[in-house]
Amino acid sequence: MTYVISDPCIGTIDKSCVEVCPVDCIHFEEGVDRKLYIDPDQCIDCGACEPVCPVTAIFTEDDEPDGQKEYTEIDALWFKDKDAARARVNELNPV
Ligand code: SF4
Repeated sequence: MTYVISDPCIGTIDKSCVEVCPVDCIHFEEGVDRKLYIDPDQCIDCGACEPVCPVTAIFTEDDEPDGQKEYTEIDALWFKDKDAARARVNELNPV
């Protein structure tokens, strides 16, 4: 299982989650990305990130709300193909 960052992070990028993650698996590129991404291969499911998010954007992949489930795939995709992941974000949440 992994934790996933969903739609409310877009335009927020608060980064409290980055500060508490014990394995540094939450990433983004400053000035390019519209949200943060969790690396599912590195996440240890500790749950530390979820309560510190001010916009309630973080869920386990099993608990992603309806309409947000695509972010499980999008977060994983970012670590393989950043441009493809960004395009998916823009499709779901147009600029
Ligand atoms: Fe990092 Fe833990 Fe959140 Fe996974 S659940 S992204 S390891 S803080």
